[in-house]
Amino acid sequence: MAITDYAHALLDLFYPRYCLHCKRNLNDSHELYICEDCNKQIPLINEFRCVRCGSAIGPYSALMAKEGCTVCKGKHLHFDTMTVIAHYDGVMKTMIHRFKYARQKFLFRILNDFVITHKKLKEIVPDIDVVVPVPLHWLKKIHRGFNQSELLSFGIQRYFSKPISTNNLCRIKNTESQTHLSRSQRQVNIHNAFFVKYPRLFQGKKILLVDDVLTTGVTASECAKKLKESGARSVHLLVIASAEHNR
Ligand SMILES: [Zn+2]
Ligand SMILES: [Zn+2]
Repeated sequence: MAITDYAHALLDLFYPRYCLHCKRNLNDSHELYICEDCNKQIPLINEFRCVRCGSAIGPYSALMAKEGCTVCKGKHLHFDTMTVIAHYDGVMKTMIHRFKYARQKFLFRILNDFVITHKKLKEIVPDIDVVVPVPLHWLKKIHRGFNQSELLSFGIQRYFSKPISTNNLCRIKNTESQTHLSRSQRQVNIHNAFFVKYPRLFQGKKILLVDDVLTTGVTASECAKKLKESGARSVHLLVIASAEHNR
């Protein structure tokens, strides 16, 4: 047994490690935060999805749905495509919740590894010019200590060697939590919440807009609207987890 192994065993004795999701003891495992079983149970989205709004659709509709599906045909969404990686449920919900609200920033690394190695991301990213995270209002960012979408975007831009823009699209309205609002109430709430400082920087660019959790898509659509008004050529939304039951 190497000295470092003894040190780890001693640390485990005083600071036992537990899986954040199922609470299983991890002292005998190489995993640090999430056990192997829970890791395998991340609720990935594998079924066919509408490229425009991310709704679940049949394989036939997926071939036909460049202009949208029955869910989004009547809706005016400002982003061109949407890619959703997982359901906001189970292990994924535990991780994002702890990452965001319990400020367990280290979880960003697990989420990040998971996002950058995902096949859907590898398909979209080569075609984009710049990565833009959905911004937080500066007061909220100070309160939380970080912007979760920004941390995830940094991981994406480093991995794919694409530039990132974190301070050109700004959130100028500090909206209250939108959790209990309907889609139309959210739309009013979020109207003119974003602002682009130097529109020319986004002119003609294909933008990857990154958000952590999607509920109605209203916030991301409002961001995309501002990016398009600034002259962006296209806006592709990447969402880590979708809370569809709220849509
Ligand atoms: Zn577990
Ligand atoms: Zn759709």
